[in-house]
Amino acid sequence: MAALQTATPPSQAPRAQLIHIEVDRRLGHEWDEWNGRPLPGGGDFSAAPGLFFRYAALTVAVATAAVALLLYLIGPRLAVLWEPLSQDLWIALGVLAGLSTLYLSVLAASFYGGRNLLPERLMERGPYLQLMNYTSLVARGFGKRDWVEHAAIDVYNTLAERRGRTVGKGELLVLIPRCLSKQALDGVLEIAGRYEVPVFVATRGQLARRVIRERRPRAVVAVACERDMMTGLRDVAGKLPVLGLTMQLPNGPCRDATIDLGQMERWVQGLVAEAPARGRTRQ
Ligand code: SF4
Repeated sequence: MAALQTATPPSQAPRAQLIHIEVDRRLGHEWDEWNGRPLPGGGDFSAAPGLFFRYAALTVAVATAAVALLLYLIGPRLAVLWEPLSQDLWIALGVLAGLSTLYLSVLAASFYGGRNLLPERLMERGPYLQLMNYTSLVARGFGKRDWVEHAAIDVYNTLAERRGRTVGKGELLVLIPRCLSKQALDGVLEIAGRYEVPVFVATRGQLARRVIRERRPRAVVAVACERDMMTGLRDVAGKLPVLGLTMQLPNGPCRDATIDLGQMERWVQGLVAEAPARGRTRQ
């Protein structure tokens, strides 16, 4: 962006001075509250998957405790309406808490055991997506949002990659954000060119969804920061197989992001490798 500064006495008529002002970065709404300071860890939010499981367990405990408190407070009034209602709700809460704990245990056993114990609709393309989002909400309260989201996305990718899905070249779509550094962008284009897969720059989540609607891919490799990826996975992964590559943000959000190009190539190569006429899925 540039602005012109005018001179006062016409007699001296100094030349107008061109003042260069740094073009403001356009922040994605996920980063609205960013204070302009460098991000912790140079914008690298890598975290061990165990962090997600600890926060997911905390999320189940917090949700159970919140509903229990509500039941404790309104229980007497419910009993006035209908005697057994309060007791039935306590039993339902106990069953739900038990099922949630069991689900989390099966998830952890699948992740650490190296074998998905449930079909994708009951795991990474099912309730897991909701669990990720609720866990992110709890993590925000502890100031650990980005790290917990990173760990959650890593767990998601591991489970999704294990399905061993393959698709035809034209059936894979690579979605990238507008904030990649030039080097990262060049690298992505090179990989996409090598495997003949289309690349789209999705400047907003809405556009990403539109591209998916119009192109109708059978699988997507998406690149985004943890915050944007969580929204994208929640909206898309239930309908379409997605692998989500998170970025590092050494210059703060929404600018000059870098990615692990080796990881991207492994995913693209794996998805289009030896693909039959139509995609196949193996457990
Ligand atoms: S993906 Fe890039 S542009 Fe979008 S919110 Fe994240 S950092 Fe900003």
